[in-house]
Amino acid sequence: MKLYSTQNKDLRVSFKDAVFNSLPADKGLYMPEVIPQLDPMFIRNIQQYSLEEIAFTVAHALIGQDIPADDLKKIIKDAINFDAPVRFLSKDTAVLELFHGPSYAFKDFGARFMSRVMGYFSQSDDKLLDVLVATSGDTGGAVALGFLGVEGTRVTILYPKGKVSEVQEQQLTTNGQNIRALEVDGTFDDCQALVKKAFNDAELNRELRLTSANSINIARLIPQTFYYFYAYAQLKAQGINQVVFSVPSGNFGNIGAGLLAFKMGLPVEKFVAATNVNDTVPRFLSSGQYQPKPSVQTLANAMDVGDPSNWVRILDLFDQDLEALKKVVTSYTYDDEATKAAMKQLYLEYQYVACPHTAIAWLASQAYLGEHPGQYASVFLSTAHPCKFPDAIDADVFEKVKLPEGAETLSGKEKLAKELPVDYDLFKAYLLENN
Ligand SMILES: *Cc1c(COP(=O)(O)O)cnc(C)c1O
Repeated sequence: MKLYSTQNKDLRVSFKDAVFNSLPADKGLYMPEVIPQLDPMFIRNIQQYSLEEIAFTVAHALIGQDIPADDLKKIIKDAINFDAPVRFLSKDTAVLELFHGPSYAFKDFGARFMSRVMGYFSQSDDKLLDVLVATSGDTGGAVALGFLGVEGTRVTILYPKGKVSEVQEQQLTTNGQNIRALEVDGTFDDCQALVKKAFNDAELNRELRLTSANSINIARLIPQTFYYFYAYAQLKAQGINQVVFSVPSGNFGNIGAGLLAFKMGLPVEKFVAATNVNDTVPRFLSSGQYQPKPSVQTLANAMDVGDPSNWVRILDLFDQDLEALKKVVTSYTYDDEATKAAMKQLYLEYQYVACPHTAIAWLASQAYLGEHPGQYASVFLSTAHPCKFPDAIDADVFEKVKLPEGAETLSGKEKLAKELPVDYDLFKAYLLENN
């Protein structure tokens, strides 16, 4: 697969270069030169295949020229080693649970696949690959657990002290091995600024082979297409062919992957972008004006994004044609009060405890069904296990949360984090001295 930049369609880079650079120098985003079409027979018979088989077929169509089939199979078997079940709450509403991976969030799909692809492309390098990542919670956990034990790689995570949940902090700080955690006495933006400065530091880049685990990396987008196909396969096994996906959206990577799957031939009636009050995309869809705003803090904090970085990718998929895009994508926005009420209602009606992001996707799926009754099955994506967001969920509902397997042992593990003030020179010294 060759990729161009959304800012320069004449540019061509290899998949490997796009993986290690994340972003082209012109600050566009990498997009596949050609979007491969899957064999219609594969789609027609998709209910016969496992998640692993579907993942291989989709990945092979995209990057089969870059990674030989046997190696790609191994990467997928190792990376996608957990399920993504569709569970029906009612006749026309189902939830696609994407939190059965090690960090209990959908970001495991992207992080685990990317880590193994980076490891694969680094086999012949003698210098360790140093992954730097700033996190407000979910990304760091997925990256830490995704890269844990991957040969030839080392991860340094910067997280804001006191600003991540307990489970998130445990996932960031108890790994050891090739994972290091820095507890920064500042905000997420401070963490991000430190990491950015390191990438632009010529001296550091001479000493270390730095790369980012950025959410816009193409190797994180590709594996997120897998579960859309797999969800469709599970519905088809139930005799359902008409599906609407409702996706809780922040940076719009998840829904962007769904739209890539759609462009590869997955039959989907509609994608519903569900947002919290950070509504830059919903406003764009109704006004045609893209007006980013500073992000506002909400209960669904992994979606607190005022200027979604993957949005240009989605526009590119539709050749900047707003009318064509609106035929496929619609959106709804909910505030914290509605989110809280939805979590309560989901529990009372279905005994289902959802995280706030998931609850917003459910609300949007019901709004869409309400406007198009009796036509579709609506699948809302559950992006995280509720145990990661104790402060966002009413105590009487949170009590009912069953911890996923392994979570109870997390609290017994030793915290291995180094405290760091917001000071670039100290951060740089840490990296150089601990090389
Ligand atoms: C990252 C995240 C999202 C937002 O996904 P995007 O791809 O950024 O739109 C939603 N929910 C949870 C739990 C997340 O961690």
